[in-house]
Amino acid sequence: MKYISTRGKAPALSFSDVLLAGLANDGGLYVPETLPHYSKEEIASWADLSYQELAFNVMWPFVEGDIPADAFKSMIHDAYANFNHQAIAPMVQTDNNEWVLELFRGPTLAFKDFALQLLGRLMDYVLSERNEKLVIMGATSGDTGSAAIEGCRHSDRLNIFILHPYQRVSEVQRRQMTTVIDDNVFNIAVKGNFDDCQGMVKASFADQSFLNGAKLGAVNSINWARIMAQIVYYFSSALSVGAPHRKVSFSVPTGNFGDIFAGYLAKKMGLPIDQLVVATNQNDILHRVIAQNDMSRQSLNVTLSPSMDIMVSSNFERLLFDAHGRDGAAIDDLMSRFNKGDVSLNDQAWSYVKEHFDSYKVDDEKTCDVIAKVFADTQYLLDPHTAIGLEAARQCRKDASVPMITLATAHPVKFPEAVEKAGCQTPVLPEHMKDLFEREESYTVLDNSLSDVQAFVSNNI
Ligand SMILES: *Cc1c(COP(=O)(O)O)cnc(C)c1O
Repeated sequence: MKYISTRGKAPALSFSDVLLAGLANDGGLYVPETLPHYSKEEIASWADLSYQELAFNVMWPFVEGDIPADAFKSMIHDAYANFNHQAIAPMVQTDNNEWVLELFRGPTLAFKDFALQLLGRLMDYVLSERNEKLVIMGATSGDTGSAAIEGCRHSDRLNIFILHPYQRVSEVQRRQMTTVIDDNVFNIAVKGNFDDCQGMVKASFADQSFLNGAKLGAVNSINWARIMAQIVYYFSSALSVGAPHRKVSFSVPTGNFGDIFAGYLAKKMGLPIDQLVVATNQNDILHRVIAQNDMSRQSLNVTLSPSMDIMVSSNFERLLFDAHGRDGAAIDDLMSRFNKGDVSLNDQAWSYVKEHFDSYKVDDEKTCDVIAKVFADTQYLLDPHTAIGLEAARQCRKDASVPMITLATAHPVKFPEAVEKAGCQTPVLPEHMKDLFEREESYTVLDNSLSDVQAFVSNNI
């Protein structure tokens, strides 16, 4: 399988090269040149497989030719070995024909483990084959950092540097990162905000001379391998409610558009998906573009669902590429128009987006109401991101006979503020994290200065 850039100028690359490159050198994102398509009969024949067996079948065409089948199977096995539920991605029913897909059974209690547990192993494999090393730099507002560290910590070919805004992540989120004490793991608390951290990572990718020849790799969802791993649970959950013999709908709490983009790909690969609902919080640019063709940037709000506090959703470019007939030059032109302040899509592109997605926005007050109501109705406690997804599912649903699955992206214990505001009790930390507040922490506080951060990185590789 070859991968091409959404901006049409960078060279087509193999899976392994895309894995290590992250962003394309023309500023675009890599997407598969063609998608595999599975017939109804083939999908139906997967109904009894384990999650890991299904994962292999769904992902194999994307890596074939680059990774041997046996090696890929064992990476998949290891990636999901320390999830705390035998089904890996279990489902819970919340109402008639309405389900929640629990994607928080991995080591850091958010869905990002699905992709990052595999990504770390894939990178380690390819780097070992090539006898190379890679420096990972990433910025986090919370969940990505810990999941990336957990995914990379066991590789002696990766050095990982995660930047978080000093004193602006929750204590659970900080401790999930800073209590991982390994020689190749570096947590940096930057005296600035999340945008400052992300800006430093972007600047470091653009000019890597401070690394003295070492190479930089990406763990955020611009990395294609993350999207690939997320396609699998759309298939597993749909199969468990009767697909492909019936249609299924999904609602997805959305920030960077990575998770829901994987659902869109599952549909293109043959899964009979009826609706795909984009659920946003007050930071609603994705809802506005789908509903009104309005992509204007507004100032960022701090909400009770911080993992969705994002203004520019980088993966949306992957969808826009399809919406413009996969014309890289058109995307290149569109992106420069966006930077000059243009805020809408042409009619044909907007119709494409509307044809595939519904959307809904939920504010903090409603989020808490939903957590409280669902708990009263079912005794099931939602995290704030999932509550937004479930409310959007209920508001956008068109056909009650089609099963509606909301992706539960995090465990409620990670977001005690929202749970308490909803009048519910914060659950206890799960067994493997019970002593989180007693564990030793290690992190370095640095000024909001690119040269300080880059000096720290180059001195530690
Ligand atoms: C990252 C994250 C999201 C948003 O996912 P995207 O792929 O960026 O759309 C939603 N909920 C939680 C809990 C997250 O950690």
